[in-house]
Amino acid sequence: MIPDLLVMKFGGTSMGSADRMRVAAQICVDAARTRPVAIVVSAMSKVTDLLLSTLRAAEEGDKEGVKENIRIIEKRHADTCQELLPADRQDAVLSIIRGLIEEFERLSSGILMLAERPPRSVDEALSIGERLSAALIAAYLDASGTPAVAVNAREVIVTDSVFGNASPIMDFTIERAAKILVPKLLAGTLPVITGFNGATVDGRPTTLGRGGSDFSASILASALDAKELWIWTDVDGIMSADPRLVPDAAVLDVVTYREAAELAYNGAKVLHPRTIAPLVDKGIPVWSKNSFNLTAPGTMIAAQAEGNGPRAVTSMASVALISIEPASPVINGTMLMGRVLEALGRANAEVLAFTSSSYQQSFCFLIRKDEVDIALSRLKAELSLELAHEYVHPIEVDDNVGLLAVVGEGMAGHPGLAGRIFTAISADNVNIIAIAQGSSELTISIVVRRDGLERAVKAVHAECRMGVPVT
Ligand code: ADP
Ligand code: ASP
Ligand code: MG
Repeated sequence: MIPDLLVMKFGGTSMGSADRMRVAAQICVDAARTRPVAIVVSAMSKVTDLLLSTLRAAEEGDKEGVKENIRIIEKRHADTCQELLPADRQDAVLSIIRGLIEEFERLSSGILMLAERPPRSVDEALSIGERLSAALIAAYLDASGTPAVAVNAREVIVTDSVFGNASPIMDFTIERAAKILVPKLLAGTLPVITGFNGATVDGRPTTLGRGGSDFSASILASALDAKELWIWTDVDGIMSADPRLVPDAAVLDVVTYREAAELAYNGAKVLHPRTIAPLVDKGIPVWSKNSFNLTAPGTMIAAQAEGNGPRAVTSMASVALISIEPASPVINGTMLMGRVLEALGRANAEVLAFTSSSYQQSFCFLIRKDEVDIALSRLKAELSLELAHEYVHPIEVDDNVGLLAVVGEGMAGHPGLAGRIFTAISADNVNIIAIAQGSSELTISIVVRRDGLERAVKAVHAECRMGVPVT
């Protein structure tokens, strides 16, 4: 549609202050000299957390807490506005900020009154973080001579109605992108689109899940047939482990779509888990880059990469292991698994790892901790008869566990690798609870005791020599 289009996404830290916004804007200006650019922005760092905790305070009836948080949010944006924009541009943006804060106040008051947080209002309220940051950087770009306009993604990204974790409906989104974004791009105006949010076909606001601005950017890159997507964050690219856990983690030059998707699904926060899917069919390459270190080349994510074997290790601490065991031979274990998986699907709980034993027909699976309540209630409803008649043992939940995943194309071709990994983990006295080798053959998932998770990550990273650059 727009030849050579570059979509760029700036994360929370890259939008975290007036100074950071200036750097982000300079990156846009430099790129826009030679090609059309559209950007997707996150809320300023920590703002989404603060909006969310304000809504929780509202639900608990904490009026003073709500008021204080709103004051902090407004001040942070008003101060940034004054620091960022020339004097003659400030009033217009300050009044946009005021308007958005009023919208948030209205939604919080509704929650205070109801003493509950309807998911739809939460989504509407959370999108205000991105709308605030988009207004600021769009005004700054525009004032600095690059025509730019803030766009609420609610007008463009059409989703289903799974509030808090919505999925895009691409056909509608492509139509809206053509109608709303393309004319701006053709007119030489840089669209600054809010990350994280969207709306249902009938206009009800949704969000794409925490960290979802990466996903917004890939949805839009795909809808606009972009040439490339660059995701700007606060590390030099995708690394062999979370550098906060493993100080000698190394930046990976190139990873495949499949590796990136596996890493993200298994907890590498550097990418939202659903970022990759919209890009694969069109083969749109993604770069993960550091807005704090502009000279670092970053990581390219593309269909192919050279080499194979373990590339990176990730972990997830907020997970729980649920075990189900038939107590009677009359139970058909396979049917039971089918029903359990269906109930989990209906609860929108994602199974991160699954293992079963063939003789006792027992099985266990790992899900995110915040999905345990809903998953358990659906499972108990589904298995109510079997549980009541003790055909199935009571469902067990163990949330004192963590997930570690080793990811790399072609790992299946490395005999003895799994053994080395398990030995390294056990040598550090970390108890392995369950193991699952994904059918994709590029991930080995290992469930360990929570208190051994970080040690296990370090041990695997060292054993596989992931921090050592390939020569
Ligand atoms: P943004 O706000 O830009 O979206 P995030 O905080 O969501 O940034 O993601 C970047 C962070 O992801 C890094 O600061 C890093 O600590 C963390 N991270 C976790 N795993 C990895 C990994 N394998 N490679 C790089 N960063 C990682
Ligand atoms: N601001 C949202 C969040 O913190 C989305 C994002 O930053 O990607 O979850
Ligand atoms: Mg992120």
